Amino acid sequence: MNALPDPELLDREDSLRGFREDFLFPQREDGGPVLYFCGNSLGLQPRCVAGFVQEELDSWRELAVEGHFRGERPWTRYHELLRAPLAKLTGALPAEVVAMNTLTVNLHLMMVSFYRPEGRRNRVLIERQPFPSDRYAVESQVRLHGLDPSECIVELGAGEADRIIDESLIESFLEREGDRIALVLWPGVHYATGQRFDIRRITRAAHAAGAMAGFDLAHAIGNVPLALHEDGADFAAWCSYKYLNGGPGAVAGCFVHERHLGADLPRLQGWWGVDPEARFLMKPDFQPAPGADAWQLSNPPILAMAPLCAALQSFEAAGMHRLRNKSRQLTGYLESLVQQRLDGVFEILTPAESERRGCQLSLRVHGGRDAGRKLFKRLLRAGVVSDWREPDVIRVTPVPIYNSFRDCREFTERVLEATS
Ligand SMILES: *Cc1c(COP(=O)(O)O)cnc(C)c1O
Repeated sequence: MNALPDPELLDREDSLRGFREDFLFPQREDGGPVLYFCGNSLGLQPRCVAGFVQEELDSWRELAVEGHFRGERPWTRYHELLRAPLAKLTGALPAEVVAMNTLTVNLHLMMVSFYRPEGRRNRVLIERQPFPSDRYAVESQVRLHGLDPSECIVELGAGEADRIIDESLIESFLEREGDRIALVLWPGVHYATGQRFDIRRITRAAHAAGAMAGFDLAHAIGNVPLALHEDGADFAAWCSYKYLNGGPGAVAGCFVHERHLGADLPRLQGWWGVDPEARFLMKPDFQPAPGADAWQLSNPPILAMAPLCAALQSFEAAGMHRLRNKSRQLTGYLESLVQQRLDGVFEILTPAESERRGCQLSLRVHGGRDAGRKLFKRLLRAGVVSDWREPDVIRVTPVPIYNSFRDCREFTERVLEATS
């Protein structure tokens, strides 16, 4: 077995190491910072967030209603500040993205437009045991069309829920039964296993079968590079509190491919979806805004958008390309540590090829649920924040913007202590 490099050396060579200082780490009861490996669930608070929020509180106090049009970042156009960074993170044209609502709400808005069952083609293809909210959303959309979820939701996956799903399985299914599928709704990165999917391949297979292809990017955005426009996805939706560090319940986002912009699609409408030139004319006819903005309903929650606006700055500064390079190295390092030193404790469920995963490693604890829960709680007491998935999985996520190689090494030490 190769000896692993010294983490201190890797940290010194890391050109992104300075970004760690821009984030606020929770403190342990005894004072030291926790080892934080939960960026897949809630990203840490960037230091600059408080200032951005304070600015809007100041505008509200000093300008009140005039804040819509005046100040550093006028509220009527606030969501537009997020457009360029989000387009970069998703590989989209600026007009194809919009920051709005929350993820499940956006999935609904997208399905209203892109799940249009017709005759035999009335089914939605999803993965086996998806994130519950996605399944609930799909189920209710199917019902809204007067259809039966037990017939119209097809769950695809190999064996148990925590197994890797090869894209070829999706392709062969769609070749066989694609004429019954109206929509393929798939994750970019799977929340439970950490598997990254090939969005282009899935989109091509869906389109070849005559179906729409939509993606839930909750665990993909800010984690892996995306190229939604080139890959041809019809739509995507994501949340912003995980890898984007936008804060709890942060304003989410949507992508609608250029080919659908300006098309005559069914859509839920609100006044913020109206062309900004016409919005305040208060006309009865809905004149859609150009681009994905037409899907907006309400004027956005500025105080919830400010943290995201702040957090996206660090992605702009670091660049997704550099983040991804570090991420491969960092997660690879953690993987080697687990393989070499924690082989008796964990089985790694996440794919080994770096192309097929992002930051996260899903670790099944040997010994089952009770042993797993005990270990998870011990780690928490020892200041290691990871997350627990029933029945026996601990997800550990080193993120490149604020985690270090030393964090990974310390994780290993704490697990050894907790299991000795
Ligand atoms: C985190 C996550 C959600 C959460 O939905 P909200 O609407 O943001 O509460 C939904 N789906 C997936 C796949 C997720 O990972």
